[in-house]
Amino acid sequence: DYLVTRQGAEPSRLIVLAGPTAVGKGTVSAHIRENFPNVMLSVSATTRTPRPGEIDGVHYYFVSDEEFDRKIADDELLEWAVVHNSYRYGTPRPPIDDALAAGKRVMLEIDLQGARQVRAVMPEALLVFLLPPTWEELVRRLIGRGTEKPEEQQRRLDTARMELAAQDEFDAKVVNREVSQAAQEVVELMDAPIGAPISR
Ligand code: 5GP
Repeated sequence: DYLVTRQGAEPSRLIVLAGPTAVGKGTVSAHIRENFPNVMLSVSATTRTPRPGEIDGVHYYFVSDEEFDRKIADDELLEWAVVHNSYRYGTPRPPIDDALAAGKRVMLEIDLQGARQVRAVMPEALLVFLLPPTWEELVRRLIGRGTEKPEEQQRRLDTARMELAAQDEFDAKVVNREVSQAAQEVVELMDAPIGAPISR
């Protein structure tokens, strides 16, 4: 079992979901978006182009490099990072401030660099690390989804190994054995007291 190690006295209203590449963060957060409407999922801005089926304003705000520069200059991003050495991704700040002010719950699905920045500016955020059942399973998922070339797969595996090494910086860990169960655990973490056992 994993334990919630740190959290403010109040239940967390801002939760950050991070974890290594290919662990299934996107699938778990999509499940949360569909099944837990009381949790607002932050929509990030990115400079990458949409994949088939991705909708502007739902999955991401797809913006130009110039527009991303402007958001940084105008201090509109809570955090941002270059991910996988390629595109920039960032969390728009105003929707989060508004949701928190209205007493709503917000979830960010971002990378490790972003999670660290959120920790620095919003120490009350609950940082959750999504783990694969085993390293072999992570490798299988990364290769199995077949979206990256072998060279890129190797680069992402190297990144994943590095990201896994940072898991103890997080407040809680959830093992992604099965999507709906992992999603349920992530949502339950928002109310979990310090020291509560989390993953089964
Ligand atoms: P993808 O391009 O596959 O949608 O996402 C690539 C990576 O970018 C994922 O690890 C995802 O968590 C991360 N990411 C998405 N949005 C943000 C964001 O706003 N900030 C940061 N730091 N990372 C993000």
